[in-house]
Amino acid sequence: MTRESLATGLRCIDCGTEHPLDYLLECTACRGLLELTYDWEALRRAGPGVFTGGGLWRYAPVLPIADPAHRVTLGEGQSPLLDCPALGRRLGVRRLQVKFEGSNPTGTVKDRSSPTAVAAALQFGFRATSVVSSGNAGSSIAAYSARAGLRSLIFAYERTSAPKLLHMTAAATDLVLYQGVYDDLITIWDRLVEERLFFDCGASRNAYKHEGKKTIAYEIAEQSGWQPPDVVVAPVAVGETFIAAARGFREMHAAGWISRVPRMVAAQATRANAVVRAFRAGTGVVPLKIGYTVAEGLAAGNPGRKGDWVLKLLREGGGLVGDAEDEAILDAQRTLAQTEGVWAGPTGVATLAVLTRLLAERALDPAQDICVILSETGLKTEAPPPDRTAVAFDEASLRRLVAERLGAR
Ligand SMILES: [Zn+2]
Repeated sequence: MTRESLATGLRCIDCGTEHPLDYLLECTACRGLLELTYDWEALRRAGPGVFTGGGLWRYAPVLPIADPAHRVTLGEGQSPLLDCPALGRRLGVRRLQVKFEGSNPTGTVKDRSSPTAVAAALQFGFRATSVVSSGNAGSSIAAYSARAGLRSLIFAYERTSAPKLLHMTAAATDLVLYQGVYDDLITIWDRLVEERLFFDCGASRNAYKHEGKKTIAYEIAEQSGWQPPDVVVAPVAVGETFIAAARGFREMHAAGWISRVPRMVAAQATRANAVVRAFRAGTGVVPLKIGYTVAEGLAAGNPGRKGDWVLKLLREGGGLVGDAEDEAILDAQRTLAQTEGVWAGPTGVATLAVLTRLLAERALDPAQDICVILSETGLKTEAPPPDRTAVAFDEASLRRLVAERLGAR
């Protein structure tokens, strides 16, 4: 079986103009965003059996990296799709699953887009990568760039959690902390991208980077026996994970591999909810000036043109939006750990907090199969110093303690 890339070109999502498989970030006719196209005749003929091997590159036929030598890997992908019966009962959902991205090499869903970003940097002959990050993308791009032998110029948010900073300090060749929030830097940085000073590993335009995230939809479908859930709740900062997942499901549906496309729910932090507001108002995205949210990775007040792409997908596909306050996000984090033993970070569980709210508001049917994408591990979260009150013990006091806690035999 082939693991050949069946990518054929780039197509403008606005005017439909087709472009060759070059390093092109927007349409030369109208400046619209680009998406990758594939030889779907060949894919339909081959069926899902075209996917062989493990990890992210199992899906190489629907990814845009031609040369296997460029397909950098740290063992990402194949993250667990976990049934969550206890949490489902608590929320009154018939069947609840979580797609837990914390099992990836740097602990987040970014490890799906970094391999295709860094592989594309190699494919187009770049020697350095760069990204503006709130922490997770920076860690991931730095790690994959190191793996590929490329320099990495990482701009990280000044309030990035200590574990993420520690990680980036170790993996990046060049780390710069920036003042303010993501939105303040990204416009200027995008201009440097135009000058080809480094390879664009940002979330706003690069179709090659974006494409790796599509594998989350392919995995959910494959792990569900090609009968994906009715509803998928995905996080939205700039919109990369959401758009990629929606595209993946649409592709599989067009190929006849799945019988329906799941209803997509876009989840944001209330403190950075530009897409949610626009969807509810029936308008385009209006950028917001935002402050701090515990969901660091969702802290984008200006999702740019991808925000409007998210809205288009939501409106075409009968999608739904929701947002959650920081307190609800932290509450969802504890509830998930206690009911299912899954420890996800605040950025990762914002989706679950949004689902909880939508169910309480009866905006979603609890009789449906619902899948929630948890985008990051909880092990990279900033934490206050823990309570270290310790007890001295001897055998008798230890026996008493065990009896008190677990009950006498
Ligand atoms: Zn165009």
